[in-house]
Amino acid sequence: MKEWEKNIRKVEPYVPGEQPNKPDMVKLNTNENPYPPAPEVERAWKQFSPDSLKLYPDPTANVLTGALADYHKVTKEQVFVGVGSDDVLATAFLTFFNSGRPILFPDITYSFYDVWANLFQIPYRRPALKEDFHIRAEDYFTENGGIVIANPNAPTGLMESLDFLEQILEKNQDVIVIVDEAYVDFGGESALSLLPKYENLLVVRTFSKSRSLAGLRIGYAVGNEALIKAMNDVKYSYNSYTMNRTSLALGAAVLENEAYFQETVQKIIATRERTKKALSELGFTFPDSKANFIFASHKRVKAKDIFEELRKENIYVRYFEKPKIDNYLRITIGTDREMDRFLAKLKEILDRTGI
Ligand code: PMP
Repeated sequence: MKEWEKNIRKVEPYVPGEQPNKPDMVKLNTNENPYPPAPEVERAWKQFSPDSLKLYPDPTANVLTGALADYHKVTKEQVFVGVGSDDVLATAFLTFFNSGRPILFPDITYSFYDVWANLFQIPYRRPALKEDFHIRAEDYFTENGGIVIANPNAPTGLMESLDFLEQILEKNQDVIVIVDEAYVDFGGESALSLLPKYENLLVVRTFSKSRSLAGLRIGYAVGNEALIKAMNDVKYSYNSYTMNRTSLALGAAVLENEAYFQETVQKIIATRERTKKALSELGFTFPDSKANFIFASHKRVKAKDIFEELRKENIYVRYFEKPKIDNYLRITIGTDREMDRFLAKLKEILDRTGI
């Protein structure tokens, strides 16, 4: 090994779901929204002046933090924005988890958490989920350097109650507790209502799922002003201009149309519930998802085989070759038409594999 090679930071990177681009594909593998963003986004797009791109964007991202503050009825100083919630979460890890004590998150959860912990050299422990995939609150009552809970959790889709989160918050007032609400709009209960009570709570959200803007990369955190200031100090210490002008203009525009947002979310929820029924009839079991995906296992046919067969038909779902979950498929909820095509193909595959 060369001398300089010894000093390269070794990391095992997060592997994002594949992004195929085939004309007739059904893409149910990365939890994107199948519907276009609100029409206000197109309007803002058309009004956008490319000439303005010669100037740096506003480093405070004022138009977006302001719009989010109005939307959630908090102050602008309580909102941090970033390049997707991945950027927001990474900044939060870097800002808050410096005690040297292990941070805690479940063994089955968003698989980026341990990647960031490794990258930033933060020790961590991953208490096992219960058999039914719910989180055991008591596992988080021990000394720790911080807590991260995705609620609803990914890839299970399961939601924990606000009472559950309060139990964890009550017992952990000396560390930062991050609640990752990437999927909360699809039927979950937001922890935002707990913010006035817990100054150590940080709620992280994204425009990638319920707002149909995965391609724009916008995420945000809401918390008390001291937490947000600390995150901004860290942000300004590595890249002051994370939010580009297009994201700021289009991101602020998407918040203008609440009716469209509600309608899209309701459509996805209705399709999810219908898909659950159809999957049960085909012999699948799954936790009761409150997200825009279903985490399903078949009683007879292996998840990996189904995944591969679907892929041959240009139908993409997500499969994780990991302990405890390697017989599950994570199926994003698409349009009704997409789900019909998926279900028909699924039935064909199951019939073909015989009993
Ligand atoms: N949190 C969870 C639980 C997720 O599943 C995702 C999506 N991969 C993210 C955060 C990050 O989403 P984004 O960076 O697109 O906001």
